[in-house]
Amino acid sequence: MQPISPTGAVKVYLCPGCGLEIAPGVAHTVTWRADGILGEADDLAARRHWHLHCWKIRP
Ligand SMILES: [Zn+2]
Repeated sequence: MQPISPTGAVKVYLCPGCGLEIAPGVAHTVTWRADGILGEADDLAARRHWHLHCWKIRP
């Protein structure tokens, strides 16, 4: 997992935790599978952007 600083967030992402958008400029967390057996490109596609709060309370 990799923390994204507010200045580094320039796109709108969909948070899988709450289903709401993460607006540009909002600090959030990026996660992805590190054990990708389908290759690096697939790992990139598997990235997920979470609100910090949603990542913390995820099931
Ligand atoms: Zn969220």
